[in-house]
Amino acid sequence: TIAFLNGQYLPLDEARISPMDRGFLFGDGIYEVIPSYGGKAVGLAAHLERMNNGLAELEIKNPYRDQEYQQIISTLILRNKSKLASDNIGVYLHVSRGTDTKRFHAYPKHITATIFAFAFEISPPPPADRKLVKGLKVSLCEDLRWHRCHIKSTALLGNVMHFEHGQRQGNQETILYNRERQVTEASSSNVFVVDNGVIRTPPLDNQLLPGITRKLALESFKREGLVFSESVVTVRELLNAQEVWLTSSSKEISPVIEVDGHKVGSGRPGPVWERAIQAYNKYKFSC
Ligand code: PMP
Repeated sequence: TIAFLNGQYLPLDEARISPMDRGFLFGDGIYEVIPSYGGKAVGLAAHLERMNNGLAELEIKNPYRDQEYQQIISTLILRNKSKLASDNIGVYLHVSRGTDTKRFHAYPKHITATIFAFAFEISPPPPADRKLVKGLKVSLCEDLRWHRCHIKSTALLGNVMHFEHGQRQGNQETILYNRERQVTEASSSNVFVVDNGVIRTPPLDNQLLPGITRKLALESFKREGLVFSESVVTVRELLNAQEVWLTSSSKEISPVIEVDGHKVGSGRPGPVWERAIQAYNKYKFSC
């Protein structure tokens, strides 16, 4: 496939970055994954806004404007369409602080950011029908990451270790909770529950990533009149919920049927999920 690196389009396997790049040495960078279906990107403006927020917080000078990123993303989608098996394409976009001559923790003053992007095939959106969707099984684990989880940092080892824990238990994800036994998010997705008929998701703070799918889902619920609240969800509430869902750019809204070996509700994707995914599907290309 064709990738983008520092102003150039080139075959992905020819892209080269110095081992002195701070992205490699320190995980000092920000990334985004933008999904597209049939050439249409989902939540592009929101993804770029979150990336800009992350770069500003890390004081990484962004060399490009949004328009230039939009151009890179649409070019990668277009140029890779024939190389990938379908036109469901994700674009990975990565901005690191750049390459230095020495390894020193402090932010260097005179280096320019490294910009890297590539396209890859993603699975098609799941059918919005609970009889046709299997649902996910997830592990449950104390959140042992850092206190800046709102930054979409390329330093993902904490997330990777939690994800791996779920995989080893034969599950597809790991839901995390803090020391107060409040749910934060999952290792690569946000968490929703249906509690007494109300859709709930933990409020945004430094303990979780402000997911774009979470944001678009909430906007679509508002538009379609589905009742929701952004409020603390305890582990006990999670385990007693009628429904549990995970959201992410690759999963959209996916129902969970088992948490830590406990059946969620009836053990099958629920009716509120079906209404939620239908609301989301109506809305997702319009923003
Ligand atoms: N939380 C974490 C830790 C993530 O890595 C992700 C992205 N994979 C999400 C939540 C979901 O974010 P988005 O909807 O923007 O993909």
